[in-house]
Amino acid sequence: MKKKLICIICPAGCTIETETDDADLVKVSGNKCPRGAEYARKELLSPERTVTAVVPSDSEVLPFIPVRTDKAISRNLVSQLLKTIYSIKVKTPVKRGSVLIENFQASGVNVIFSRSVKN
Ligand code: SF4
Repeated sequence: MKKKLICIICPAGCTIETETDDADLVKVSGNKCPRGAEYARKELLSPERTVTAVVPSDSEVLPFIPVRTDKAISRNLVSQLLKTIYSIKVKTPVKRGSVLIENFQASGVNVIFSRSVKN
């Protein structure tokens, strides 16, 4: 299958043309450096995303507290992760950087608070 991607690794934003078979990337062109080929391979074969969201809290000042993953997570897990985040009601106080969800689905990815809230 042929597909065009815009590389987001650097500001050059190369348009990369790719071709995949059932299991692998078989052709890459348009990338000005090897990082573009690696980006295309990962994006097509095992895409990941950094997730940001807000979690409900008992705070009167900030009823929704921003959270994020501490690294990129498989795109296949994003929907499930968001459902889990939205099902939680956080008790304040919380500290920026502290862990809300540890090692989600054994992915090695944690969800952490993006800011501190006293209550
Ligand atoms: S292929 Fe290389 S030069 Fe082009 S956007 Fe990606 S990282 Fe930048």
